Amino acid sequence: MNLEDITTVKSILSQPQNIAIIPHKNPDGDAIGSCLALCFFLKDQGHKATVVAPNDFPKFLKWMPGCNSILNYERENSQAKKVLEEATVVFTLDFNDLSRTGQLETPLKEKNADFIMIDHHQQPNGYAKVTYSDVNMSSTCEMVYNFIEFLGALDSITPEIATNLYTGIMTDTGSFKYRTTSSRTHRVVADLMDKGASNMEIHQKVFDTNSPSRLHLLGAALRNMVILPELKTAYITLSQDELDQYDFKKGDTEGFVNYGLTLEDINFAAIFIENKEEGIIKISFRSIGDFSVNQFAREHFHGGGHDNAAGGRSELSMEETIDKFNLILKTYQKELNP
Ligand code: 5GP
Ligand code: MN
Repeated sequence: MNLEDITTVKSILSQPQNIAIIPHKNPDGDAIGSCLALCFFLKDQGHKATVVAPNDFPKFLKWMPGCNSILNYERENSQAKKVLEEATVVFTLDFNDLSRTGQLETPLKEKNADFIMIDHHQQPNGYAKVTYSDVNMSSTCEMVYNFIEFLGALDSITPEIATNLYTGIMTDTGSFKYRTTSSRTHRVVADLMDKGASNMEIHQKVFDTNSPSRLHLLGAALRNMVILPELKTAYITLSQDELDQYDFKKGDTEGFVNYGLTLEDINFAAIFIENKEEGIIKISFRSIGDFSVNQFAREHFHGGGHDNAAGGRSELSMEETIDKFNLILKTYQKELNP
């Protein structure tokens, strides 16, 4: 964030404000963690602040400090609308374009308030008064830590804030292993531990609370995996029938796509998940190295994200989607075999 933006933010926050904090649709650990941490921080600074999420978030995050106060725009619509109406400041966290907020897109576009964006995705859309965007950052949570530092307020990080920020950094970096994990990320995480984040407890709550049905669903996903050694690619499909058979709950397929990348000599992985209710196939892409899945998702599957982690969607059937994917893949033979 440049000096001018810091001054603008300081001036906005110099008086008590009504603040709405918005994560993207289908919020993950980084989105929820950054929103909750910022919410605690702003309330401690004398503001009224509420997190309004476009829809529900996964069960494995439903222990995070403050998560019970998140308003779900789908479920608590009138309360959420009221918060938006009264907001004088809107923070948008962990996304680069208002279209990533689903049903909240229109009300946010029509909203007259000071918008502040904090995000690490590529190609941020310039809708905000203050845009703090940095694609080199591991996570939005690391950026919220920086944001608090810019305001000279690191001493006001409580155990609740530290726990939320730690969780988001951990989940968005694949437990500190992805390329954007820097030595600075580790220093931030160390400080968060000093400030009350319990690393062992957080790891257990996020990763060691599987239901038997989720592990069985993972079994089905791994059995469905198709490996294309000549394209260094592996992909998984999960049909709605399979999801139903294994009692699918939101968040259950989180991380499944990464199993493709654990294969030797596989650098590109994808998962295709049927959603009959929305009439789409939701897709996640992951890569190791220089193959940009952000570009791939943008060009072919109405999506985007980061160089090594992106998502998209298809309105074709599963079979047609897979056929399309296989056809497109062939045109990337060179890129996939650098
Ligand atoms: P995931 O595959 O875990 O859903 O998402 C991976 C990354 O891609 C995340 O950073 C997420 O924000 C982004 N992403 C996922 N789906 C979409 C999409 O449909 N459009 C865009 N622009 N980004 C997405
Ligand atoms: Mn993120």
